[in-house]
Amino acid sequence: MKALDELTFDNRFARLGDAFSTHVLPEPLDEPRLVVASNAAMALLDLDPAVAETPVFAELFSGHKLWAEAEPRAMVYSGHQFGGYTPQLGDGRGLLLGEVYNEAGEHWDLHLKGAGMTPYSRMGDGRAVLRSSIREFLASEALHALGIPSSRALCVIGSSTPVWREKQERGAMVLRLAHSHIRFGHFEYFYYTKKPEQQAELAEHVLNLHYPECREQPEPYLAMFREIVERNAEMIAKWQAYGFCHGVMNTDNMSILGITFDFGPFAFLDDFDAHFICNHSDHEGRYSFSNQVPIGQWNLSALAQALTPFISVDALKEALGLYLPLYQAHYLDLMRRRLGLTTAEDDDQKLVEQLLKLMQNSGVDYTLFFRRLGDESAALAVARLRDDFVDLAGFDAWAEQYKARVARDGDYSEVQRRERMHAVNPLYILRNYLAQNAIAAAESGDYSEVRRLHEVLSKPFEEQAGMEQYAQRPPDWGKHLEISCSS
Ligand code: AMP
Ligand code: MG
Repeated sequence: MKALDELTFDNRFARLGDAFSTHVLPEPLDEPRLVVASNAAMALLDLDPAVAETPVFAELFSGHKLWAEAEPRAMVYSGHQFGGYTPQLGDGRGLLLGEVYNEAGEHWDLHLKGAGMTPYSRMGDGRAVLRSSIREFLASEALHALGIPSSRALCVIGSSTPVWREKQERGAMVLRLAHSHIRFGHFEYFYYTKKPEQQAELAEHVLNLHYPECREQPEPYLAMFREIVERNAEMIAKWQAYGFCHGVMNTDNMSILGITFDFGPFAFLDDFDAHFICNHSDHEGRYSFSNQVPIGQWNLSALAQALTPFISVDALKEALGLYLPLYQAHYLDLMRRRLGLTTAEDDDQKLVEQLLKLMQNSGVDYTLFFRRLGDESAALAVARLRDDFVDLAGFDAWAEQYKARVARDGDYSEVQRRERMHAVNPLYILRNYLAQNAIAAAESGDYSEVRRLHEVLSKPFEEQAGMEQYAQRPPDWGKHLEISCSS
């Protein structure tokens, strides 16, 4: 276990120099205080969880103090936002403080979001509010606990600094961890600004540090792109299987590592709704729940375009062609498991599609349906779940097929079935209304609810005593909360 001053830095991205990032010091927040910290994320840095409660912790992650070895930098990138190219974006309110490595030899970027103005702030104030910082913290740690690749979050530090959004709010910072903060948009930036040397340097950097196994391949860059395609296919399959809607899948928000990244107006589905749009500024539904799948491919094509100096167009196209079949295979595998199936049959895809259609038409709670399906034998479970459906004949027909399919799958005891299904079907997810309750309490100075919710979500598959209220459908007020993009 380390103390805060024992972190070991190795700032590899900063060493790429001024063409890639600009040195900027964080602008401190007033009266910093710890809102919440993640013990699991502390462990990634070998930090003793007790240090989170010390005043110096809040000072370090609110811009008041800095390690001597830190080299805070704002990164430059660009990206396609809602389909249109924006030539320059960059860290407008976040700073890469430095890279630390832990005892296992893993490097972690320390990225402080909400750290003040940078050369890339454009019209923004460089700040993040408490509400959005809590949402990013809870989401990244909850996704990780579900087994969905994501950036991580060490802590949220609140403050008394006023920040103006639709109304006056308070500034906060979230300390984000990832093996890299390089986005698709980094490659697009150097491609469209026609800086081939820097682009090659960036590609070498990513290949050497993050895809070293691709070095062994005959065409290392192509192998790396393929791996990025594969990781994205798998990540998005997990989003779809667990009902996660990212909300702003712009290419500047897509990590080169294939992890969920840059949380804005995201949401987990309550009722299953393929057409759900979580971002109320997304009028066309470009990033609706079901569109995430083709958008994943669109984003990879945008990255492919930026990689044309290194890889032939034919090879890029072939690699892109892997996306959809891989996505489908991962998705179907996950959905089979969610249904408690251990074998594969040709008609499984249809069984899943029919169920989702029925759920959509009846507004069935996506998470609780699967959890309850595993509570008892297939026959008893479907009999009990029947009441949630409006189209009873449709559900009965599906249930008959499902029971027959389960019987063909194998002869399992109820206990085996429950254990297997509960291990993949969470009881607790980050419902918007739960986040909203925690935020409302935190905004009035009570952080206990954020901390409790974070705790509950860190073990989403495990039934926790006294936590029934976190495993409920939303109350009416919490069903269709509009999540503002201004964060
Ligand atoms: P996002 O929608 O959070 O992914 O941000 C898109 C771009 O806007 C990025 O370049 C951000 O750094 C920048 N940005 C977002 N909010 C702010 C803000 N409050 N101040 C400065 N820049 C911001
Ligand atoms: Mg972003």
